[in-house]
Amino acid sequence: SYVLGIETSCDDTGIAIVDTAGRVRANVLESQQEFHTRYGGIIPPRAQDLHRARIESTYQRCLAEAQLQPEELAAIAVTTRPGLPMSLLVGLRFARHLTRRLQKPLLPVHHMEAHALQARMEHPKEIRFPFLCLLASGGHCQLAVVHGPGRLALLGQTLDDAPGEAFDKIGRRLRLHILPEYRLWNGGRAIEHAALLASNPLAYEFPLPLAQQRNCNFSFAGIKNNSFRAIKTREREELTPPDGVISNYGDFCAGLLRAVSRHLMHRTQRAIEYCLLPNVRLFGDAPPTLIMSGGVANNDVIYANIAHLAAQYGCRSFRPSKRYCSDNGVMIAWHGVEQLMQDKEGSLRFDYDHIDIQGTAGFAESHEEA
Ligand code: ATP
Ligand code: FE
Repeated sequence: SYVLGIETSCDDTGIAIVDTAGRVRANVLESQQEFHTRYGGIIPPRAQDLHRARIESTYQRCLAEAQLQPEELAAIAVTTRPGLPMSLLVGLRFARHLTRRLQKPLLPVHHMEAHALQARMEHPKEIRFPFLCLLASGGHCQLAVVHGPGRLALLGQTLDDAPGEAFDKIGRRLRLHILPEYRLWNGGRAIEHAALLASNPLAYEFPLPLAQQRNCNFSFAGIKNNSFRAIKTREREELTPPDGVISNYGDFCAGLLRAVSRHLMHRTQRAIEYCLLPNVRLFGDAPPTLIMSGGVANNDVIYANIAHLAAQYGCRSFRPSKRYCSDNGVMIAWHGVEQLMQDKEGSLRFDYDHIDIQGTAGFAESHEEA
């Protein structure tokens, strides 16, 4: 059977259909990047208007691509949190309207859980519950033990910025978007590409955040502020024009990637060692399987570093295919499939009027500090 997934938590209108074996029948994604780049960021009412204008046509394109009738869908999954409330509401209203018309269950999806479970769609045999997950995206940075949909135990999270957010702001400050090749790219992707151009990748060094803290939390504000300062100093030295980019931006990006990688590795190492402690032994005698997910998992340098670290502990690591690391409808539909698979008593909700943009299944409650 088929699950339709609707994602409108931020600036992408994504609708997809996935079957219970994890085969993607259709995946339609309408990005708003082009509009938001013009204003240097997302303006929530504008994002809402764009979702509204596009959601019906995105849905129709999705059905056409899948060559399915709406009656063939088993359930509708929709992101209910976290995200921009105005954007979330568009998806939720549309999902309610569909479920009412089709008399199908509405499955509320926590966006970060969907990022966390996505790799299972492509590696169902290798990735069993529980697994260790590093979620690094535009709004979050978390380490969690994932036991199933709605069942995550948080080991640590960012105290300030998310890494994707830091990449986006630093990319903007560097003015990478004025280079034609990066015009429509997000900051993270542009920085990854620019780092390949470095002639002296060791030119920039950043201090390791939270080096003395014995926990699994993250902090990216220091790296961000140090970046702003380093860029300003370089601009003064070279007399960069106000609409120009410093000449050694490749070196800078390489240093930045190294700093972010080191921090992510340092905290992930702590998480792995915690799981392996004799009095914890979260995964029995076996090393945990490590999943990295969220938009920052697109980054080959960062992922390679994390996978290398994990391998030293005997952990296997996985990430979703790149097209599924960033926001999309597939991960929402797949989370819906996971919910269907867990629902042995057939207790799925039809009382869709009570599902609001906070969702129903308690994420906050189940995501206690482990
Ligand atoms: P959240 O999932 O926390 O609500 P989001 O949905 O906005 O936030 P995602 O779509 O998961 O975030 O990821 C977007 C982020 O990923 C952006 O901040 C972007 O800079 C970052 N990103 C995308 N590609 C790369 C890359 N190649 N390297 C590093 N970062 C990247
Ligand atoms: Fe996301």
